[in-house]
Amino acid sequence: MSGIVVEPTAGTRVVTTIAELRGLLAGRRAAGASIALVPTMGALHDGHFALVRRARELADVVVVSIFVNPLQFGPAEDLDRYPRTLDADVDALATLGVELVFAPSAAEMYPDGPSSTRVVAGAVGGLYEGASRPGHFDGMLTVVAKLFNIVAPEFAVFGQKDAQQVFLVRRMVRDLDLPLAIEVVPTVREHDGLALSSRNRFLGDAERTTALALSEALGAAAESADEGPAEALAEAAAAFGDHDGAELDYFVIVDPETLLPVAGDATGPALALVAARIGATRLIDNRVIELG
Ligand code: AMP
Repeated sequence: MSGIVVEPTAGTRVVTTIAELRGLLAGRRAAGASIALVPTMGALHDGHFALVRRARELADVVVVSIFVNPLQFGPAEDLDRYPRTLDADVDALATLGVELVFAPSAAEMYPDGPSSTRVVAGAVGGLYEGASRPGHFDGMLTVVAKLFNIVAPEFAVFGQKDAQQVFLVRRMVRDLDLPLAIEVVPTVREHDGLALSSRNRFLGDAERTTALALSEALGAAAESADEGPAEALAEAAAAFGDHDGAELDYFVIVDPETLLPVAGDATGPALALVAARIGATRLIDNRVIELG
């Protein structure tokens, strides 16, 4: 927080244009307020709210963006099916003291259509999520860079749930010398370990049970990590098991510094990343493990 006393403004305001948002933020900045941005695609849950709470601790003004970014969805993906619950999202954000919700249309964000200048994620952007979702990370980084330029926040808050996203955003900030700090909040989970996700609402009861295979595989990797990466991968595969309608996309153990797969004799902290399709719903999760 800045040392200056900043007058709070009443209520949560929903803004749909870049020009209006910039105008409001210029006024707040002139009054000495610091700004934190929480980028989201809406359908908000407790995981997003943890990011908002962290943003409130960091800055005077919290901007939550709600934008289902078409650029990061492939042609066969769930752009049209992605849940949109703007009214409920705004109500919840109001109770958390969020000053501004930025909910632009696709035409506001991409007035010239989607084939404009893009940020390229580089080699790591083609691995894991990027291998299954070509172009996803270029689209994600492009919209995040646009949001950073529109809001010009001192802080932007992201969830560890999307570990590869966090890695690539941090790298973009370094590579392009973007003038803000990236904050990362631990993954918020259900009582039984399932990572909260906007897509969980698509799971039927049986699928909801099957979806525990992701966090259970991560748990098995963590427990056997002492014995090295090969054993951890084997235990994870066994814990994931065979389920009707569930398909493991990848389970990898990577170096947190490079996001590349660890060597067979690696020791120390590593990141286990998992993605799987449960019915028609694709879920991801990850966990820090300690290789012995
Ligand atoms: P999304 O709306 O899915 O694009 O997510 C917006 C932000 O919320 C991203 O930084 C996510 O990593 C974060 N997020 C999503 N789910 C969780 C969770 N269960 N715990 C913590 N952060 C999360």
